[in-house]
Amino acid sequence: MADKFDVIVIGAGPGGYVAAIRAAQLGLKTACVEKWVNKEGKVVHGGTCLNVGCIPSKALLETSHKYVEARDHFAELGIKADGVEIDVAKMVERKAEIVKNLTGGISGLFKANGVTALEGTGKVLPNKQVEVTGHDGEKATYDAENIVIASGSVPVEIPPTPLTEGLIVDSTGALEFSEAPKRLGVIGAGVIGLELGSVWSRCGSEVTVLEAVDSFLPMVDAAVAKEAQKLLKKQGMDIKLGARVTGSDIKENEVVVKYTDANGEQEQTFDKIIVAVGRRPYTQSLLDDDAGVKLDERGFIYVDDHCSTSVPGVYAIGDVVRGPMLAHKASEEGVMVADIIAGHKAEMNYDAIPSIIYTFPEVAWVGKTEQQAKAEGIEVKTGSFPFAASGRAMANNATEGLAKIIADAETDRVLGVHIIGQHAGELIAQGVTALEFGASAEDLALICTAHPTLSEAVHEAALAVDGHAIHIA
Ligand code: FAD
Repeated sequence: MADKFDVIVIGAGPGGYVAAIRAAQLGLKTACVEKWVNKEGKVVHGGTCLNVGCIPSKALLETSHKYVEARDHFAELGIKADGVEIDVAKMVERKAEIVKNLTGGISGLFKANGVTALEGTGKVLPNKQVEVTGHDGEKATYDAENIVIASGSVPVEIPPTPLTEGLIVDSTGALEFSEAPKRLGVIGAGVIGLELGSVWSRCGSEVTVLEAVDSFLPMVDAAVAKEAQKLLKKQGMDIKLGARVTGSDIKENEVVVKYTDANGEQEQTFDKIIVAVGRRPYTQSLLDDDAGVKLDERGFIYVDDHCSTSVPGVYAIGDVVRGPMLAHKASEEGVMVADIIAGHKAEMNYDAIPSIIYTFPEVAWVGKTEQQAKAEGIEVKTGSFPFAASGRAMANNATEGLAKIIADAETDRVLGVHIIGQHAGELIAQGVTALEFGASAEDLALICTAHPTLSEAVHEAALAVDGHAIHIA
């Protein structure tokens, strides 16, 4: 009989590896199955996030941002930097090095915490057994008291633009361009499309974003979304809303994309296309027919608020279940499930999960938009503060953007914080804390905020909720 584990986790992305480490820390005998093989043929941990998602995209965003800063803005600071050039190959190489270090780091954490790493494809069998098929085809079956499924997601493909080596790529292919394409089409104006579009726009591509929906970033407060659209346009990104892609033709080394918009049928020619229309839950070869784990109508593994599936003792977390497809959401669910398995009481607050778009400036938000709150019949009061009025933003040469707080008109409770501005992704932590602790706008306004910091923009927005911002007339 093969080993028996207290917990077997399937998938070592930010959901699975965090769940496995936490379970091991709590004294549970834990294994984690992973099948991801890198270019060198080695099984690597870290999932989408570390290999082809959060981290590599941020490495490219950082390099390309610094390039634009040096090329276009250093002179404003009195720094002479003539002839600044981007070395795309070096940028991509640096990204690969970071990925290698981080994925290796997870394997080290598994060893340090006593997590058994199993290599291969895990399948959930009936009676809480897991079959692992190695890359050599060898099968082994393990018993588990508990199973945590964290198999993640994969990019959605669309029939009008089938992936075509080197020409039509998904987000993974877009991290590997050897040079900036002259004319780049991005299908989808979501988080991933805007981030990858920004990278290549900064490196010199003419970027056109085709988005089927009429509104821009509908999940973000309208004031912030409007500012984001204006700033990305100013940076040279041509964002076409209400543009539904219907087909494509490949002509030698170009792609002609057909789409319809309010004016009828259109076409545009590109050197490369990035398809970034979303991701879907990944459950291929994961569930035995008799495993009893149910999917919902959209293909996600069905779970309750505590990530329990339809089978007692089998949990599912991260991108493969409902909720935002975000690494930190996956990790928090991993911690919750490990705690529950270890017999502790644990909860997730799904109302306080921050989202960030790592464009420049960054867009970050948590909680409701003003529009959502009103649609739900909640009477709100709001306060905004422009970065243009922040001394630190001026010193940083980054005065674009605003912070906005949405509070309940009656109770003053903070319902949402939406920010566009430099380091908005760091500033949003204040909003998350406010929501988590049920803070009022006045609570935020009474907190002493260090000067000069960008955090003061959030503080001033909180003061503005009752019309008492100091630094705006
Ligand atoms: P995954 O990270 O997808 O990991 C699942 C793992 O399970 C994979 O390693 C897979 O190989 C393995 N697996 C699947 N099936 C099996 C099986 N049967 N047996 C064994 N192993 C299996 N999120 C953020 O929060 N911030 C960001 O900035 C951000 N940027 C992104 C940028 C891009 C370009 C992309 C594509 C995504 C980004 N995301 C970001 C999303 C983030 O990567 C995901 O939300 C996160 O990785 C989900 O974690 P997970 O553990 O649920 O799944």
